[in-house]
Amino acid sequence: METLQVKDKTFAISIPAAEIQQQVRRVAAEISKDMAGRDPLFLPVLNGSFIFAADLLREVNIPCEVSFIKLASYQGTNSTGTIREVIGLASDITGRDVIIVEDIIDSGLTMAHMIETLQKQNPASISVCSLLVKPDALKVQIPIHYRCMDIPNDFIVGYGLDYDGFGRNTKDIYTLV
Ligand code: 5GP
Ligand code: MG
Repeated sequence: METLQVKDKTFAISIPAAEIQQQVRRVAAEISKDMAGRDPLFLPVLNGSFIFAADLLREVNIPCEVSFIKLASYQGTNSTGTIREVIGLASDITGRDVIIVEDIIDSGLTMAHMIETLQKQNPASISVCSLLVKPDALKVQIPIHYRCMDIPNDFIVGYGLDYDGFGRNTKDIYTLV
């Protein structure tokens, strides 16, 4: 079994690059079909989705724009833990069909908060596109229009996702052993 050492933790390969690419192409084709004639604005969420976004966008074959956003964490004292604020939204999204591009949806709290924030700027529509979803971890109901793969409730790294800042630079996805 192919393993990856990231700092003090050992990970084993769980989704090979070829499967990722196949699913990314499938989702890009779905988006290209659904969004034809709508000139969507993709909003990939840094840092985790930078590799996914780069691969996805190169497979999307309709006119579109891309603008990266980021989430700044600050310590929240509510029951849901840390609240993360959307920063860096450079484009005017009023009247636009926006597609949020995420690396992974776990509890869904981050995405729920992001949808709520973006909604205030009156886009024509908001779609969610996530590379990975952990269905068993979802704590809130959020619409996930496009997803490449569902995974179990394990911690993964690679293909943009990190463990303590490291491990993003791999073609495959790895699961904590
Ligand atoms: P949520 O608000 O959905 O619980 O959290 C989503 C965020 O948690 C993701 O954007 C990602 O930063 C982080 N996350 C959740 N699960 C994993 C995982 O298995 N691996 C890594 N590297 N990050 C994760
Ligand atoms: Mg993320």
